[in-house]
Amino acid sequence: MTAITEHFTLEEFTRSDKARILGIDNTPVPAVVANLRRLARFNELVRLELGSAAMVISSGYRCPALNRAVGGASNSAHLDGLANDFTAPAFGTPMDICQKIEKSYLQFDQLIYERAGSAIWVHLGIAAEGVKPRRQVLTIDSKGTRVGLWN
Ligand SMILES: [Zn+2]
Repeated sequence: MTAITEHFTLEEFTRSDKARILGIDNTPVPAVVANLRRLARFNELVRLELGSAAMVISSGYRCPALNRAVGGASNSAHLDGLANDFTAPAFGTPMDICQKIEKSYLQFDQLIYERAGSAIWVHLGIAAEGVKPRRQVLTIDSKGTRVGLWN
């Protein structure tokens, strides 16, 4: 395990059951690793905002083949290692997390409350180096994409 910050390892951002099952090599190139390091540092701030609750990352970096396999958007920030999907059960529900992050000072690029069937998670993306974070807040579920947080 390669720790990249106090509470996050590189593997947490790159491991994928789907990739393993499909035989996809999801190893990031150095530029993506640099982004994942920035994302991990950002996550440390998020973790503090969540009362130091552990963040469980379900998806971080996705190489193009993996992103296609999971039906990710073709311009997904996951492709650049700039976004991760997570829950933090010790803090609360994904909606609790989204509301807490939205109200915080955190300069995220995109915060998305995502629901697909019974799965609910938080998508959090940071802006590329030198790019102004949009602080965009969205909900994506069976009704489509909406601005703001909707249950
Ligand atoms: Zn995502």
